Parts: sequence; C-alpha cells; structure tokens
Amino acid sequence: MLYQSTRSSYVTDDVHALLTGLAPDGGLFVDPALGAGAFDWRECLRLPPLGMASMLLRHLLPGITEMDELVRRAYSGKFSRDELTPLVPVGDQYVLELFHGPTSAFKDVALSMLPQLIRAARGQLGETGETLILTATSGDTGKAALEGFHDVEGTRIVVFYPENGVSDVQRKQMVTQKGNNVSVCAVRGNFDDCQRGVKLAFSHLRERSDLHLSSANSINIGRLAPQLVYYFIAYARLLGMGRISLGDRVDYVVPTGNFGDILAGYMAKRLGLPVGRLVCASNANRVLTDFFRSGVYDRRRDFVRTSSPSMDILVSSNLERLLFYAFHGDTDAVSAAMTKLDTEGCYAVDGAVMDALREDFAAFCCSEEETAETIGKVYRRCGYVCDPHTAVAFHAAERYCAEAGGCAPLVVLSTASPYKFPGRVLQSLGQSVPENEFDQMDALHELSRIPIPANLASLRTAEEIHLDVIDRDRICAYVENAAKGDKR
Ligand SMILES: *Cc1c(COP(=O)(O)O)cnc(C)c1O
Repeated sequence: MLYQSTRSSYVTDDVHALLTGLAPDGGLFVDPALGAGAFDWRECLRLPPLGMASMLLRHLLPGITEMDELVRRAYSGKFSRDELTPLVPVGDQYVLELFHGPTSAFKDVALSMLPQLIRAARGQLGETGETLILTATSGDTGKAALEGFHDVEGTRIVVFYPENGVSDVQRKQMVTQKGNNVSVCAVRGNFDDCQRGVKLAFSHLRERSDLHLSSANSINIGRLAPQLVYYFIAYARLLGMGRISLGDRVDYVVPTGNFGDILAGYMAKRLGLPVGRLVCASNANRVLTDFFRSGVYDRRRDFVRTSSPSMDILVSSNLERLLFYAFHGDTDAVSAAMTKLDTEGCYAVDGAVMDALREDFAAFCCSEEETAETIGKVYRRCGYVCDPHTAVAFHAAERYCAEAGGCAPLVVLSTASPYKFPGRVLQSLGQSVPENEFDQMDALHELSRIPIPANLASLRTAEEIHLDVIDRDRICAYVENAAKGDKR
C-alpha cells in the first residue's frame, strides 16, 4: 500500500509513512486511492469498538501486522468506558464523548494507538536507532502523547507548548510527566510558533542519520487513522438505539483546530459510512469558517486567545489533505496553495471546487460570549455540563439546524472533559469561581455530580518537573540537545 505526498508524486509505503510523519517535500501523506478499494463498512458496524478499530487500521495501514494485538494493548483497560467513546443523548441531539481516555482528552483515542503502531513499524523494519517524537501542542496533544510514549522502548519524545496558551490543568498535566525519555518545554509564542518551529526542526534535522524523527501531531497518518473509529461507533450506537436505519445519513458537528478530527470523519465517509454533513465548528479564530464560506483561506489576522485553546489555530495543517482530494490529486495545485499560504499568507480556491466541498462540509464559528452562553444554555435545558470546546460545537449545531430548517440525527463530538476547564465552566454557569484550579474541580463536582477523572484529581499533589522556557527560534537547538542529552 502506497502513501503519496500532497505536494508531489513522492510515494512510500504505509510503514515508512508512519515512521517519518512528513514527506521530504514538506507535504503530508495521503492514500490517493482512499475509498476506491473495497471496505465492508456494513461489516465494520457490526463489530465491537476494538474490532472496528482493528478492521479500520488494517485497511488503512495494511503493512502493520498483528493489528488486533496492537489495538488491544492500546485500549484495553486504558479507557474508563468499554464502548471507548460513549454516545449520550442530550436534548434531541447526541453527544459523542471522546474524553474517557487516560488523560481525559479526545487525543487519547489516537495517541494511545500511535506508540503501538510506531513500535511495530520499527520492529518490522529492524530499526535500532532511537525514534525521536517531536510534538507541538496547543494543550491536549502534549499530555496525551507523553502518556502514550513515556518509557516506550526505542523512542524519545519532546513536547513544545505555548507558554501562556494552555490551561492551568493542561500545563500541570504536562510538567508533571514522569518517564526517562521525555522532555517538555514552554515556548514564548503561540501554538503556530510552536508548530512552525517543529516543522523547521524537522527539515533541519532530517538529514541526520543518527536521528529518526517522527511526529505525534495529526500530520502523522498514524495519528489520523485511529480517529475514524468513533464515527463508526456513534453510527452503530444510533443503529442499536433504533434511532436510524442502516444507510441513513448522520451529520457530525466537530470542534475543529488543526482539522484532524473532522478529516477523519471525511475519511470515514470515503470508506462508505453514511455521513451527511461534517459541520466544522470554530471559535473566534474563524479562519476555517471564512474559508468554507468564501473559498479564501487567509491567515493574515490577529490570533485570538480563547477559552477553547485547543482550537486556537490559524493554520490548520490537515486542510492540506482535504485540498488534495478536492483537487483530485493535483499536487501542483496543492503545492501552489501551500506556497502562497507561506509567502503571502493566503490562497483562494476555485468556486466549483468549493461548491463540491460544501456538499460534504458546513462551517460555523462561535464568539467567546456565545461559548459561555452555550455552556449555560445546554446545562439549563438538558442538565448536561460541557467544556468550552464542546460548547463551540453545540453552538454550531444550533446554527446549522436553524439554517437548514431542521436536521438529520446529529452527533456533537465532545473533545474535552469539563474538568479540564473547570474555572471557565463554573463562570459560564454563573457560579462563584475559587482561585485554585483543584478547588474549582471540587466546586464543579458539587454542582454536576459527575465524578472527577482520577488522572486529573491526582495532579493536585504531583511534583512539577519540567520547567524549561525558550524563545521560539531556539526550538531546533533544544531538540538537538534533548536528542544527545541523554542517549542511553
Ligand atoms: C485537539 C483538540 C481539538 C481540535 O482537533 P483537531 O483535530 O486539531 O481539529 C478540539 N478540542 C480539543 C479539546 C482538542 O484537544
């Protein structure tokens, strides 16, 4: 099975694509024939969640052997719910809770799996050098990646996060990470600075034969592939509840940042799952909303720091993969758009291509006031407490249904536990907000009666170990030091 770069005719097999993360020309790896090969999506829907994951991953990464065992190791006993991602009725909609993994983040779904895939790929290729995982995080990826990779043999992981761009709980989760192969570093800048620095480090260090670089960001196909499963899980649950019949279309509303989550939904659709619209929900950083509406992607705007920091992104990397499919594999066109984005800060997409994209996607954005209002509204109407990222999606769902004059069964993807952002949630619910974040968790618990996830409660007494802070132009040097620092 061959993966191709989005920017040229460069191809490599799935195992190498997994280990390198990014193509040498800077493009992302895609399966140019996605959806053309036979995938029995009906059969997939009949399997239990781990069986679904295994079947999807075997299809997307056929070069990796013993997938059942890898899936079992990744998920068994690590998620607090057997169904992996439970589907909860809220009002007349459904919320797909993606946050029941070891760090209470939706990214656990992918980042529990990725280390297993990388370890298997290394084994199959007989690699002996260390694989260095570089990660830029806007909050949740960092901790989920650290949790997935710490002490995994043959790997080392370095995580960069924006110094003032993550919540207190998120910071605490990362800086307390134990393990003898981990580095965590704050960067004076925003998430885009971190991501750009990591991409630069990749291009500077890729020629070094002693380092095998890989990425835990959703630019890695091994991050994306495990995310298709929950679109199937939700669909199967709706079937099981008798809410839909096989073949009915279901709309999914996705709180979006780097466009990985929602792209997995698009990939599931290409594999046959009856997905209706994928509704792209953005916060005040509304680049994607403007793109889907106008056909112009324009990152030349102020970066807004919001209460949903995992979505504070102006350059959504995985949109490049969607462009590849929208342009029918025309890599020159993708390449030209990405160059324009780099040099001029914007690009425009042809009207006919945008019309086709609007068959699959809708897009809405949500201001800070609307986010807070929505948290209150959903609680008062349905007794459901959601975090700010999920609130952005609820808001988009409401706008989408209003605009369409009603809608098909709708699944709202919930990407974070409200306990990740307890202060903001309490404030939005009109409660008083204790100063300490752990007291905030307790107050939220008093109100909601939802158990506090153990991994978050235990942070209260955990020791902070990683205190490095650097300027954004020092990322590459930091990586080099981390790599040679303690080679064991
Ligand atoms: C990462 C993340 C998102 C955005 O997902 P993308 O795949 O980057 O679009 C949304 N919400 C939360 C809580 C996240 O951690």
